[in-house]
Amino acid sequence: MIIDSHVHIGQFGRFDMRPEYVINSMKKYGIDYSLVSSGVAVEFDEDHNPLPGDWKYDQYSANMLTIDFARRNEGRIGALIWCRPKTEGFDEDFVRLVDDGGSCIKGLKFHPYYSMLPMTALQIEPYLSFAAERGFPVMIHSADDEFSQPKFVYEAAKAHPNVNFIMAHIGLGTDNDDAIELIGALPNLYGDTAWVRPESGLKLVKKYGAQKLLFGTDNPIDGEDTYAHPFYKAYFGEFKEQVSRGDYELIMHGNAERLFNL
Ligand SMILES: [Zn+2]
Repeated sequence: MIIDSHVHIGQFGRFDMRPEYVINSMKKYGIDYSLVSSGVAVEFDEDHNPLPGDWKYDQYSANMLTIDFARRNEGRIGALIWCRPKTEGFDEDFVRLVDDGGSCIKGLKFHPYYSMLPMTALQIEPYLSFAAERGFPVMIHSADDEFSQPKFVYEAAKAHPNVNFIMAHIGLGTDNDDAIELIGALPNLYGDTAWVRPESGLKLVKKYGAQKLLFGTDNPIDGEDTYAHPFYKAYFGEFKEQVSRGDYELIMHGNAERLFNL
């Protein structure tokens, strides 16, 4: 059983992540379940320019794409709502979106780089209170840019002890060491394996336990063979020999089942 906790759909900029790529790659690589969020909920483009004037999506419609995808693939696809705290924010429409989505919604997702907003910003607060109310875990892109730093994810997690936070990428573009320490310091903070070197994943597990790491990949960001990347090949292969069987099961699906209530 394998659950990929970090998957996207959406066509924008240089990204072409069609729902059928998700389904085809899951079949090809034996992935049983994916937690998916919609990349077209970005608030700025890759260079932090405003989105093109003819941009079709708002917080509601971007996420309805994920909800529709999850509904069409019940039992294989769960939806994470990608929030737009800077240009839209938490409002009645957001609550309506979540209520309309119903049981296929499993959590919230933030991308501080594409929102140009750190997790410590005031605009994020109402989303996090809502996550606490609904029992949703929150997944956050983390990297070394000014908005996405692991320490901001840590601060948000510290301020909301009753919400579980997944620090995606464990600090993309870093050696992961600082982010691993932050994850180890809070009981409600976790990491995922998306573009994380297997040695770093192993370090987190050996230091703070297998319950701290979730398998995630950004599939299908590199197309239907994203899972063929050497990092993911290693998680499917050698990595298995380096942790106990029970720990491996936690990382590949058990932690996701527990945190996302699957
Ligand atoms: Zn991602």
